[in-house]
Amino acid sequence: RLAVCFIDLDGFKAINDEHGHAVGDAVLKTIADRLQSTIRSHDTVGRLGGDEFVAILRDVDNDKVYSRLLEAIRQPIKHNQLILTLSASMGVTVYPDDDVDTDLLLRHADQAMYAAKESGKNGYKLFDLETHQSREERARVLEQIGIALEQDQLELYYQPKLNLKQQTIQGFEALIRWNHPEEGVLSPYRFLEHIEYTEYARDVGLFVLDSAVKVVEEFIAQDLPYTLSINLSPSHFLSESFPRDIESALEGRNPEVRNRLILEILETTALDDADRVIRNLGICRELGVDISLDDFGTGYSSLTYFRLLPAQEIKIDRSFVQDMTRGGENNMIVRAIVNLSQSFQRRTVAEGIETKDLEEQVIDLGCETGQGFLYSRPVPYAQAMEWARN
Ligand code: C2E
Ligand code: CA
Ligand code: CA
Ligand code: CA
Repeated sequence: RLAVCFIDLDGFKAINDEHGHAVGDAVLKTIADRLQSTIRSHDTVGRLGGDEFVAILRDVDNDKVYSRLLEAIRQPIKHNQLILTLSASMGVTVYPDDDVDTDLLLRHADQAMYAAKESGKNGYKLFDLETHQSREERARVLEQIGIALEQDQLELYYQPKLNLKQQTIQGFEALIRWNHPEEGVLSPYRFLEHIEYTEYARDVGLFVLDSAVKVVEEFIAQDLPYTLSINLSPSHFLSESFPRDIESALEGRNPEVRNRLILEILETTALDDADRVIRNLGICRELGVDISLDDFGTGYSSLTYFRLLPAQEIKIDRSFVQDMTRGGENNMIVRAIVNLSQSFQRRTVAEGIETKDLEEQVIDLGCETGQGFLYSRPVPYAQAMEWARN
């Protein structure tokens, strides 16, 4: 492994401007010599041009080595009558961990160097591959999601919600997918977080609302008694435009639609901005739309707040349901949530039921509705309907 260090002097231009290029060149020469004598015999350092240097070090993961280079630059430089003091910012990337391509390594180190400048100069920063990749992915998503919306690349898949005792379908949950032209079917985990708090969160929300309303109208037209649950993004749900968006989605539609639609909001969203949450949920309630608290148990709703929230349904987070496969006391959280939700007369849905054994345990605890791969994965509309009619 090798550390590739990109070093850029802080404020070097000022020295050139103030004392002339002859002084500037002398300073650069001094610094080059100092760097050369600071590194070890198996390391390399060179000037890239301008006031930039690159050092390649064998000694990776050693903070002291990085600091020593910067310290060498900080020592006062005597030139004729002048005494000058400079500092530098440095970015470090590691070969081969971060990449094996020389150009990319230099670009990574350069990026890390800018991060060092931004956090106040006179220091170093390590390139973070994960942050970098997630930034690149985010940039890609934001560049392409607009096209995806325009070209109908987004699609809702449907997973049935079952009445566990009767083993009949009560309804479906709509789960979004992106049919990406190059990458295939993308899960919401690949793109939703990147569009949160951008204008696209609302655009996607409007797409979901519009598609859901049409599907429910189709249920009604075909005499299918199902409900449809949809997921709302926190930033859309909490936005100014949300009440209007839900109203216009229902406007002019079959009036029965609102009684079949269930809005799922994350428990953690419900805890975000209490006043707005209660107001927006109230509006949904007035419209006749049911509310479900999703991933319940992962936030920390107080009992008082829980009582205030106009939710008709609680969805127990998959992680708690699946904990029960370990047996014994691992059912305590599910048991507690079912009891809580019964005390407040809310319906309870268990997510993530993958086995018959889990199904039995959930039924024993008094949970009436369930969802999970045991019954079906989320599937495209046509497939879900085929399944539902049989
Ligand atoms: P969620 O709302 O908790 O949805 C349940 C997730 O668990 C879905 O993942 C579903 O495919 C998966 N799942 C269902 N049963 C099982 C099971 O038995 N085992 C396991 N391991 N997983 C199961 P999916 O479709 O990838 O969606 C992930 C999350 O993305 C959703 O979690 C939801 O928070 C979000 N999401 C999905 N569609 C939308 C949407 O249209 N709008 C918004 N805002 N969020 C969405
Ligand atoms: Ca510079
Ligand atoms: Ca959900
Ligand atoms: Ca969930």
